[in-house]
Amino acid sequence: MKPSHLFYQSRLRRPFLDRAEGVYMWDIHGKKYLDGSSGAMVSNIGHSNPNVLAAMQKQMAKATFGYRLHFENEAAENLAERVAGLSPEGHDKVFFVSGGSEAVESAVKLARQYAVAKGEDSRYRVISRLPSYHGSTFGALALTGYAPLNDPFRPMYKDMPKIPAPRCYLDTDSLTNHERGLRYANMLQDKILELGPETVLAFIMEPVGGASTGALVAPDSYYQRVRDICDEHGVQLIYDEVMTGVGRTGAFLAAEHWNINPDIVALSKGFGAGYVPLGAVTAKDHIVETVLDAGGFQHGHTYAGNPIACAAGLAVLHEITSKGLMENTVTVGTLLKQGLEGLMTDFSFIGDVRGKGLLLAFELVSNKETMAPLPKDMNAYLKLSDIAYDKGLIIYPRRTRGGFEGDHFLVCPPMISTPAHVAEILETLTASLK
Ligand code: PMP
Repeated sequence: MKPSHLFYQSRLRRPFLDRAEGVYMWDIHGKKYLDGSSGAMVSNIGHSNPNVLAAMQKQMAKATFGYRLHFENEAAENLAERVAGLSPEGHDKVFFVSGGSEAVESAVKLARQYAVAKGEDSRYRVISRLPSYHGSTFGALALTGYAPLNDPFRPMYKDMPKIPAPRCYLDTDSLTNHERGLRYANMLQDKILELGPETVLAFIMEPVGGASTGALVAPDSYYQRVRDICDEHGVQLIYDEVMTGVGRTGAFLAAEHWNINPDIVALSKGFGAGYVPLGAVTAKDHIVETVLDAGGFQHGHTYAGNPIACAAGLAVLHEITSKGLMENTVTVGTLLKQGLEGLMTDFSFIGDVRGKGLLLAFELVSNKETMAPLPKDMNAYLKLSDIAYDKGLIIYPRRTRGGFEGDHFLVCPPMISTPAHVAEILETLTASLK
């Protein structure tokens, strides 16, 4: 490959992408890959969807940009209406952004302005979990709990308080899962009391863990207890559904699985679905109204609500709802999870399979009894994903688990996947693991 003028996180270079269609991608050498992680859990409706492309082209032929202080645009209005219709009760207003970090920062700033508008200036702390991933900009980084990303920048931002993520699969106590869920949720209460409730603005969580915890699902008891604790202490509950939202777990929001109505929700990734950079924040109506009445939301991004992104987002939502893709996610996700559990029986070094819908992961261990990780210098997370890549399957590798080391892999193909795609993923994974 010729020298490049581009740089990303590392020196790793991949072949150039030539084209992509449905769940498959081809490099310029003609090699075919199954997109088994939808990029970074983004391309939820698959690649090159003709209806999304047509909607974008139609909008592009009319107007590509109109700054929001100069013009309203119909695409943004229609998309906001659609998102509000799919969102939990009371989330009637939608604020557009262009990505996940922007969505998280907007959610937190909205929460803060709401508190200030109510005269609760003392509330500024946002509790999050360790590990967690909420984005890479400074504000989002303060909430992110993943040492390799935080450490270089610690002197430059104010870290926010953390509580452990509910990684029950590593616990060796004799509690039931229900009890563990409550135990982890109560850590939020302890933290709020330790800090002083009058200083705590919000708690932010990924309802199903993403990049940092590898599809970590808490026991059912966790979710309602967290909601109750937030209510008891006047703390706003922010769900970071950047990865889980827009159908990825088999419901529009993962919050629906536990019947939770968060105060504020952040969306991105599968919203633009790989067609456009798009994100959003929804919030309960009284939050938005109070902030607007108090003089407006002091926050915004230039490209927010641009017509092409919104036209694409609307077409993405139409694909998901009109083609039953959330239902398909449940069916195909169940099949894929069963298949991964089968691999756990076949391979002694797979210690855990977890997730919801098509947000699934498996984790490698050196000992299933103790759940001890593989030695770090084995770099198993890179090795296995590279082997799979060579065999034409893309999965998403990470090495972290809450202060512990561990190799896990997100397996999250597009929501349009079929049982035949699942069989292909499992076959390639088996060959790669061998
Ligand atoms: N929150 C979550 C849960 C995420 O998974 C991500 C991206 N992995 C982000 C926020 C940040 O999104 P972006 O990379 O678009 O800024």
